[in-house]
Amino acid sequence: PILRKLQTAGYEAYYVGGSVRDILLNKPIHDVDIATSAFPAEVKELFHRTIDVGIDHGTVMVITKEATYEVTTFRTESTYQDYRRPDHVEFVRSLKEDLKRRDFTINALAVGIDGTVIDLFDGLEDLRNKVLRAVGNPHERFHEDALRMMRALRFVSHLGFTLEPNTFEAIQEYHSLLAKISVERINVEFVKLMMGSFREAGLRSFVESECYIYCPGLRNYGEALLNFSELRGPAIPTERQAWTLLMVMLDMNITNIRHFMKEWKCSNQLIREVTQMVPALQFRLKYEWDNWTLYQLGRELALSVEYLLYYFDREPNLAKIRLLYQYLPIYSLKDLALKGNEVMEHFDYPRGPWISMTLNVLEQEVVEGKL
Ligand code: ATP
Repeated sequence: PILRKLQTAGYEAYYVGGSVRDILLNKPIHDVDIATSAFPAEVKELFHRTIDVGIDHGTVMVITKEATYEVTTFRTESTYQDYRRPDHVEFVRSLKEDLKRRDFTINALAVGIDGTVIDLFDGLEDLRNKVLRAVGNPHERFHEDALRMMRALRFVSHLGFTLEPNTFEAIQEYHSLLAKISVERINVEFVKLMMGSFREAGLRSFVESECYIYCPGLRNYGEALLNFSELRGPAIPTERQAWTLLMVMLDMNITNIRHFMKEWKCSNQLIREVTQMVPALQFRLKYEWDNWTLYQLGRELALSVEYLLYYFDREPNLAKIRLLYQYLPIYSLKDLALKGNEVMEHFDYPRGPWISMTLNVLEQEVVEGKL
């Protein structure tokens, strides 16, 4: 409906960016970005409910009954400063100019109202071949905005794509420019890099390109990062878990964790949570892990059991994982489906401390495969 309205009013409008990429990859999408030839004031005139989210950058959020959309005027970015963020944005009326300034070919696709894909840089072919390629000359693109190097690595980690050789070479050439970028921005990309289900490849490229050397506090941890990358398993669901696992892999004590995470500009809340979890993990890692210990640990850390098995079992035991998987839906760690009142009903117990004790025993028996 938004595209139609813009078009009826005589403007061009397309879906662009990550949502187009993710739809073509059959992945779930979060935000829908629309690019248009209409200037911000013109967009605001057309729609009832809008919020200025970044008017200097040409972005207006349009709210409809169904969803919200970020509508951004076609723009070209001319001058770069400090290797990050153009010092001014120029609005243009041409889609081509807008797509040219985007980072990677798979992020530079546009879809029109009739569903046709506008593919000026062979992004579709790169999507098919799972290749991450900079738009235009990669050397120039990373030089003008060094954050793109971290974005490249995080896309590798999330999509499992390979870096096109020239793109990788350019990252190796310009890695030191990362030192000039604000830590907050690197943090966002680094966390995503740790969390992806293809982080093995992402973190390996992070180390091999030597980007890690120019990130806060990581200079001496190349090998530990490679170990982290070798821990196979599904995507890491939360930021807290990603930092916790990183700290365990880097074998940091509390003082070092605080120092390290402060340097990364993590929030105090996050630092507190991670420092609370790491020692327990480090302690338990010294012992044999039977199912029950694993399960308890998982519950303490709000990590799922199959996760812990993947991470810390030296030889992940598939039979064990299957067994636990079988019970996870019932005894889900986050929300234990077996509730006190069900126990009361089932065993005909009155209310009292025995309820939670019974729950514990039942839980243990299930996890140990006795029940
Ligand atoms: P995700 O939504 O999974 O984080 P994304 O690609 O949507 O991925 P955003 O940061 O929302 O990431 O960016 C939206 C789009 O804007 C990108 O797809 C890309 O086309 C463009 N873009 C974002 N950052 C840059 C950048 N640093 N340089 C060039 N283009 C960029």
